[in-house]
Amino acid sequence: MPMFAHRRRCAPSRGVWGSLAPLNHCSVSFAAQFRQAVVAGSVIFLAASGCSRPSVLAGKVVCLDPGHGGTAASDTYRVGPTGEREEWTNLRVALALRQLLEARGAKVLMTRIDDRDVPLVDRARLAMECQADVFISLHHNATADTGVNFPVVYFHGSASENQASVLLGRHLICALAHKLHRPHSPVSLVSDHTIFPVTGTAVLRHSYGIPAVIVEASFFTNPSEEQRLRDPEYNQREAQAYLEGLEHFFSDVRLPVLVKGTKVEVDTFRVLQEAERMSPVARLWRQDFLAAQRLAVQAATDSLRLAYELFTRSARSFPDSYLARECHLQRARLLRVWHRVQEAEMAERRAREHYVDVACGRS
Ligand SMILES: [Zn+2]
Repeated sequence: MPMFAHRRRCAPSRGVWGSLAPLNHCSVSFAAQFRQAVVAGSVIFLAASGCSRPSVLAGKVVCLDPGHGGTAASDTYRVGPTGEREEWTNLRVALALRQLLEARGAKVLMTRIDDRDVPLVDRARLAMECQADVFISLHHNATADTGVNFPVVYFHGSASENQASVLLGRHLICALAHKLHRPHSPVSLVSDHTIFPVTGTAVLRHSYGIPAVIVEASFFTNPSEEQRLRDPEYNQREAQAYLEGLEHFFSDVRLPVLVKGTKVEVDTFRVLQEAERMSPVARLWRQDFLAAQRLAVQAATDSLRLAYELFTRSARSFPDSYLARECHLQRARLLRVWHRVQEAEMAERRAREHYVDVACGRS
């Protein structure tokens, strides 16, 4: 059953969201002056600055969550090679996006508007209690391999159940790939269970039921990308990509979010956690994959066993990489060679439910 089918908008009230200053619970702001028009009984908002067509974003409630915040004294992990902190970039992009959305008549909820931390559960609760149409947590990524730079988007749970979030993720990741990355850049649209196998991520778990994603637009551990991320114009370009993705999403078909576990169960697959993924072994994720590919076409049993180990290690080292889906499909193929049918089926199901095959055509 679609979980968001029976939602109702909560009434504005005060005092509930003390940690989410300066929000007054579900209050929203409109940056520009708007004139209202009534078309077929619906109020639409037309931007006063000469925009003649109503936007698909008019009246939509968008909850923006700039990731992290206020951790400069305690967190040495989420910082680029020359000191740009992820939480600062996240906030700049989110504030730029808020302006763009409000100019099109959207109602924007911000989980934070300055450099402070906010409990994860509160971030999700804001979106849920205010009946947001979408929840987007804005992030930038880190990994041990400093050459890496591509967009990653997470949805919660399984793709066949969380259909609306997968659709939102498709539109956002393709818009980001086109605007920020080289042509034909790889992209990774994956379940948050790829990185936190047992529970997924807190903000997506607690906002389950509405279209919700965590977006890692690029990698701040890539030195060139870190320099670009310092530039407010580049931040603006990223915000434009989000805007385009959201416009495409709200113009597309409406898909449901089904109750978790009603269609499919996927076993946990142990992976390296954040700090471990910065290790020298984790840095070999791509070499492991390429070596495994060469070994997997050989006839010798020992070669196949090593191929399986290297596909597995690559998937554990960088579980949300654009090669991880293929790692699991290759593991499944080898398991079938060895007649380990149940394990093969689970590996195939994991590839299908936790890794979405996305081809971003030029639009
Ligand atoms: Zn982050």
